[in-house]
Amino acid sequence: MSGERCLCGGGDVVIYSCSGAANVGQIANQAAVELTQEGVGTMNCAVGIGALVSGMIATGRGSRRIVAIDGCPLKCLKKVLEKVQLEPSDYILVTDLGIEKTIGSRSFTREQVVKVKDEVVKSIKLEAQRI
Ligand code: SF4
Repeated sequence: MSGERCLCGGGDVVIYSCSGAANVGQIANQAAVELTQEGVGTMNCAVGIGALVSGMIATGRGSRRIVAIDGCPLKCLKKVLEKVQLEPSDYILVTDLGIEKTIGSRSFTREQVVKVKDEVVKSIKLEAQRI
């Protein structure tokens, strides 16, 4: 790997998740992983943005759409992206979907992950219709 280039992916649709330790952060992470596996976009390293890795910031800036999935109202991911002027085109807050944050628990259900993924896809499709 040369310099600060990230080989995790990027391109047309980049997907970030807060990947926090709470259940809702883990749901955000799992949704981002699966959306990547399903070809909706490519997950990239949010923590790399927080570390101000230039190549990773460039990947975000070079992406047509920026999907951001935050776990809870603390909105850690959104704050990290704002620090480098990356504005999500599609912003999903897991707790806004009726999924409760459970302190000290990282367990989640299949239905919760699907709910978040569906919300991302819906957001992307809605925006595509506006163009
Ligand atoms: S947004 Fe919430 S779940 Fe995500 S990292 Fe921050 S505190 Fe944790």
